[in-house]
Amino acid sequence: MAEDTAETTPGVPERGRRRRKIAAEPAAPACAMSIHAHPDDQEFTVGGTLAKWARSGCRVITVCITSGGAGSNQSTPLDMTREALVPIREEEQRRACQALGISDVVFLGYEDGVLEPSIALRRDLTRIIRRYKPDAVVCGDPTVRFYGKGYMNHPDHRVAADVALDAVFPSAETRLIFPELLAEGLDPHHVKRVFIHGAPRPDAFVDISSTLDAKLAALREHKSQMGQWDPADMITAWAREQGKSRGLAAAEAYRLMVLEGP
Ligand SMILES: [Zn+2]
Repeated sequence: MAEDTAETTPGVPERGRRRRKIAAEPAAPACAMSIHAHPDDQEFTVGGTLAKWARSGCRVITVCITSGGAGSNQSTPLDMTREALVPIREEEQRRACQALGISDVVFLGYEDGVLEPSIALRRDLTRIIRRYKPDAVVCGDPTVRFYGKGYMNHPDHRVAADVALDAVFPSAETRLIFPELLAEGLDPHHVKRVFIHGAPRPDAFVDISSTLDAKLAALREHKSQMGQWDPADMITAWAREQGKSRGLAAAEAYRLMVLEGP
């Protein structure tokens, strides 16, 4: 939300510098829902923000669309099965949420690695948004296919973000989309703000200096994925990089959508 202001005065050298007006950090919502594809996705990306909000009294609900049954190439033993891995990863996610101060964790039970942008998934996310009525939803950026030269965004991440946004708008707030949800007693709900992480041009920044340790502690709970690797150096560098443009030592950066009411 920072905007460049052309506060210059022609011919006056000391007025010739472009000044950047820094927008205040967005206030913590009263209730936030974090929607991601896999256990550990939220810890890598938005854990510092969620811990900070939780400490300020925000109710945070973590939604894991899959339970991470596909594991990872580096850390999953060859004799591991999807069925055996699912309860391990769900327990790791619960413990990670505890480290962040989050007590509500919902697993939707979709298959890891083959997520599709289906109407069934949109209905499930709409249902859960209407049930918990979050003011803010936190999710990824479905438009990003490539990050740098070395990482192609996981298809499950793109799908999770895409369907989360579709559920926020229009499904959650429109009465006659998924009328079967009305029959379940779930009335329309308008989400006011969407925090999109991993966006190419972020415009909202959350200072996570006070919760970087909690973010790291939460990440380390994903033991089946971390193996011997300590994420501290990489995550600290990410936080520094994301805060750099705002003079923050550690931040998580977002594209912030402030949605008009229905
Ligand atoms: Zn993931």
